Amino acid sequence: MPELRTDPLTGTTVIVAPERAARPDAFRVSHAPPPHEAPGCAFCPGNESMTPPEVARTGGGEPDAPGWRVRVVPNLYPIVAAAPSGVTGAHEVVVLSPAHDRDLARLAPDHAREALRVLRDRARTHAAAGRAHVQVFVNHGRAAGASIEHPHAQVVALDIVPPAVADALARADGRDLVDESRRAADDAGLVVLDGAVSAWCPAASASPFETVVAHHAAGAHFHEAGDDVLDAVTDALHGLLRRVHATLGDVAYNVVVHSAGPAVAVPFRWHARVIPRVSVVAGFEEGTGIRVDAVAPEVAAAALRDADVGS
Ligand SMILES: [Zn+2]
Repeated sequence: MPELRTDPLTGTTVIVAPERAARPDAFRVSHAPPPHEAPGCAFCPGNESMTPPEVARTGGGEPDAPGWRVRVVPNLYPIVAAAPSGVTGAHEVVVLSPAHDRDLARLAPDHAREALRVLRDRARTHAAAGRAHVQVFVNHGRAAGASIEHPHAQVVALDIVPPAVADALARADGRDLVDESRRAADDAGLVVLDGAVSAWCPAASASPFETVVAHHAAGAHFHEAGDDVLDAVTDALHGLLRRVHATLGDVAYNVVVHSAGPAVAVPFRWHARVIPRVSVVAGFEEGTGIRVDAVAPEVAAAALRDADVGS
């Protein structure tokens, strides 16, 4: 029977309507993995001149030449302006690795840690520059909004506090909603990974297989995360994405970091949300603001938990 649920973390109201999908593997995609390198890809090594001049890298080599492991460049088509007119801020692309075919799930674990540390460091740089909010995210695959196939993350620093972030902090009103969501998930059998870092499918997931990843000792700000906490979250994220791959195939997904803005001092816990893009926001959702989730989070969590990810 369809059920109305509201997510305390996001404020989103959801109809969980599992009868609309036959089985979780109904969402499994099957298409060929991308090639290891792609001629003409602006993010592949050797094509560094196709991007704006880089602002940071890890690895060796000269700026704007091969030898890097993680490379940061300004977005060629920024959604914010650097000059003081309109929406101001900074928009950067973080190329996760030289390999065209290695998304976060396929990177070596130490490389994934290195990439997440670069993201944290970029957020730290923008926070130190006085930006009001730094949004970090991964769009992987066309259905998740990626216009370039080569795996990359994005950092958008804003001079405004975005409404969703302000709303989340107001809704929390000093409570640890991440912990409440985690406890509720535990009671309902929705936990996928457990330990210092937990991963769970929220009871009111807005889309199938949505998962929250959080460290029990994380603070309010992603940009202030220490290496230990960040590495542990990265390892969990990496393991979770491997489970998503094993369950759904090479599916498009978003990874979204939720963090309080640098200037916000209220209690909050930064966390990441993984959203496999197996359904679209359609007419009913646009008209009502209510999302429809055709896979019960109970079924999604069990499928991810039981996924065969080898050794
Ligand atoms: Zn490439």
